[in-house]
Amino acid sequence: MKKYSRKDFLKKGAMAAVAGGTLLSGCGQPEGTSPGSAAAVSSGKKYRWTMVTTWPPKFAVLGEGADLFADWVKKMSGGRMEIRVYGGGEMVPALEAFDAVSSGAAEIASGAAYYWSGKVPAAPFFASVPFGMNAQQLNAWIYSGGGQALWEEAYAPFNLLPMLGGNTGVQMGGWFNKEINTIEDFKGLKMRIPGLGSKVIEKAGAASVNLPGSEIYTSLETGVIDATEWIGPYHDYKMGFAEIAKYYYAPGWHEPGTALELILNKDAFLGLPEDLQEIVRSAAYRLNMWTLCEFEAQNNGFLQKLKKEKNVQLRHFSPEILNSLRGYAQEVIAEITAQDALSKKVFDAYSAFQKDVGEWSSLTEKAFYNTIQA
Ligand code: CA
Repeated sequence: MKKYSRKDFLKKGAMAAVAGGTLLSGCGQPEGTSPGSAAAVSSGKKYRWTMVTTWPPKFAVLGEGADLFADWVKKMSGGRMEIRVYGGGEMVPALEAFDAVSSGAAEIASGAAYYWSGKVPAAPFFASVPFGMNAQQLNAWIYSGGGQALWEEAYAPFNLLPMLGGNTGVQMGGWFNKEINTIEDFKGLKMRIPGLGSKVIEKAGAASVNLPGSEIYTSLETGVIDATEWIGPYHDYKMGFAEIAKYYYAPGWHEPGTALELILNKDAFLGLPEDLQEIVRSAAYRLNMWTLCEFEAQNNGFLQKLKKEKNVQLRHFSPEILNSLRGYAQEVIAEITAQDALSKKVFDAYSAFQKDVGEWSSLTEKAFYNTIQA
């Protein structure tokens, strides 16, 4: 292979600029003469889709994001594509969104992959892995590191196409009615926690429950559960958990950067003309960025409100507790990957990417944060 020189790199850049100029001038050609334009653009036929979500209707950030996505698609398509959004329970129960899109009852859903681990054991690796990758790293894996192809492979048997549809950033560890001072304090605890984290706390002797957002408050208030995690200060404040649980723990070891997802019925997506497909993809990218930015921008302000207005007691899991949980997480993942070949394939790719990107992150992000005085 020819050695790649600085000169080649600069030359390639110059050629790309010329190619870009050619493409731009191509836009002025009559319809049908530029490559792909005749087949790529639809005739003006209108497409009406239904979106179901796992979020309560008009839910802050998550439900708002679904509504915004529909709005962006409508505007970008000049009204040729309209998506009607239903909150969880309005058309189908929140946790039936996957089946609704798989069957074609709805064309698209907004949720999180770890809700479907009962159907797709590998699904949680596309949402969040305890002690796994953060938002930036997970985005890099899905978009540029091969994760998307594996995700599509995992959902293909269900006639579904997944896309990233947001990220929460690092979450909080949850709300507890008692202090968690040692790993023993998890014993007998009944906690709402989804995904792989639920299996980790079970190893520590707790019982886990997977409840949609709409059911958590009442379950905690009435003692059906005695702890819950949700997202982070911004959302948790609005969920009102501070009124019914006293201790708020950091960090969200189980969700270091949870990806939200859009799941599309594959036939419905492939039935769109190419320009609408690109509009849907572009709106999904925008939703992914918008969601993370909303959480990042608001979290600390709401953390201060929780402390000042609600007198919430902020706590940190000790290094010993986190070490125990990390050990249990490794056991959980080993068990899943031993039982399911696709999970092994996905996790091998995930962990290889995490190790690779982690070396870079240690040199840069981690070292950079260490220079900042909070
Ligand atoms: Ca969570």
